[in-house]
Amino acid sequence: MDILENVSLRQLNTFGIEANARYYAEVHSTAGLQEILLQWRGAAPFILGGGSNILFTGNVERLVIRNCIRGREIIRRDAGRAWVAAGGGENWHEFVLWCLDNGLGGIENLSLIPGTVGAAPIQNIGAYGVELQDVFHSLEATELSSGMEHAFGREACRFGYRDSVFKGPLRGVYCITRVVLELSTEGHKINTSYGAIREMLENRGISDPGIRDVSEAVMAIRRSKLPDPALIGNAGSFFKNPEVPHWQFEQLKALFPGIVHYPAGEGLVKIPAGWLIEQCGWKGQRIGDAGCYEKQALVLVNHGRASGAELLQLAQEIVDSVAEKFGIRLAPEVNVV
Ligand SMILES: Cc1cc2nc3c(=O)[nH]c(=O)nc-3n(C[C@H](O)[C@H](O)[C@H](O)COP(=O)(O)OP(=O)(O)OC[C@H]3O[C@@H](n4cnc5c(N)ncnc54)[C@H](O)[C@@H]3O)c2cc1C
Repeated sequence: MDILENVSLRQLNTFGIEANARYYAEVHSTAGLQEILLQWRGAAPFILGGGSNILFTGNVERLVIRNCIRGREIIRRDAGRAWVAAGGGENWHEFVLWCLDNGLGGIENLSLIPGTVGAAPIQNIGAYGVELQDVFHSLEATELSSGMEHAFGREACRFGYRDSVFKGPLRGVYCITRVVLELSTEGHKINTSYGAIREMLENRGISDPGIRDVSEAVMAIRRSKLPDPALIGNAGSFFKNPEVPHWQFEQLKALFPGIVHYPAGEGLVKIPAGWLIEQCGWKGQRIGDAGCYEKQALVLVNHGRASGAELLQLAQEIVDSVAEKFGIRLAPEVNVV
C-alpha cells in the first residue's frame, strides 16, 4: 500500500479549492486501511470521502486517507423490511439508485446528495423531511489510533440535526468503513411533507406516488435550486439553520413580522439561515471569486480561483452581519480544515 507525497486535492473537494496533501493514500478495504495505519507514524490521519462537505483553508500536513471501500449487499429480508449494507467509500447517490432498483424504500428523499456512504452518518445527512437516522441500523468503524474495529448502533451515534457523535467528541477518531440501513420492501412510507415535492408531483400529474416518483421529484427540485459542483464549486448549505427558543423568536417576530420559521420541537423555532443571509443583502454578492449563490443564499460558491481563506473570510462577514441584524450566530455545517 503506497503513501504518496504532495498530492493535489483540487479535484477531490467540491469547492474546487487548491490545497495539497503532504501525504496521501487510498484504501479499498478495512484490511488495507489497517495496513496504512500500521505504516503511518505521524499525527492522526484525516479521512476524506467525496470532499463535498469540506472547506480546505490551506495545505493538509497530515496523512489524508481517501475512503474507497466499495460493496453493497442485502443482508437480510423479513416482513416488509430489508437490512442493507454498503462500504463507506460507495457513492451515496449511486447507492440510493441501487436501493430503488431493488425496490427498497426509505432514502428516496435523500437522492442526489453528493458524497460517500461512510460520511452520511457524520452529519446525519438530511433533506426534504428525511434524515439518515430514520433508516439507520448500525455502522462499523476503524479506530485511527489503534486500527481496532468497532460497531456503533443508533444510540451510540447520538444523531442530531446535521450532527452526530462523530462531529463532536469522536471527531477524527474513526474511519467509518461500513453502514447498515433498515429499509422497506413493501408498504413504503412515502414522505411528501415538503410542499416543493407535492407541487412537483402535482405538476407531473402523479397523485399516488411511489418511491421512484419521489426520488425523481427530489432530483428535479435539487437540480433547479442547487449549483452543480461540476460547474461551480460549492459544498451545499454552508451554515446550519439556527434553532432559537420561543421567547427569542417572539422578540424577532415583533421586529421582523415576515420572518420565515418552522417548529423545531421542545420550545424551539427553526429559522432558515438562507432567509437571514438574504435579509442582510448577501444573496448573489461576491468578494473576488468567493460568492453567495444567486439562487440560494445558504450556499457559498467558488466562482473560479477563490482560496479557502477567502471563502472563510466571506463566511465570517456573513456571520457577523447576521449576528448584528438578528442577534443570531450562524454555525457552519461545512467542515473547515
Ligand atoms: C451540491 C451539494 C448539495 C448538498 N446537499 C446536502 C443535503 O441536502 N443534505 C446534507 O445533509 N448534506 C448535503 N450536502 C453536504 C454533503 O454532501 C454531505 O455532508 C455528505 O455526507 C458529505 O460526504 P463526503 O463523502 O463528501 O464527505 P467529505 O466532505 O469528504 O467529509 C466530510 C467530513 O466527514 C469526515 N469523513 C468523511 N468520510 C468519513 C468516513 N468514512 N469516516 C470518518 N469520517 C469521515 C471528513 O473527515 C470530514 O470531516 C451537499 C453538498 C453539496 C456539494
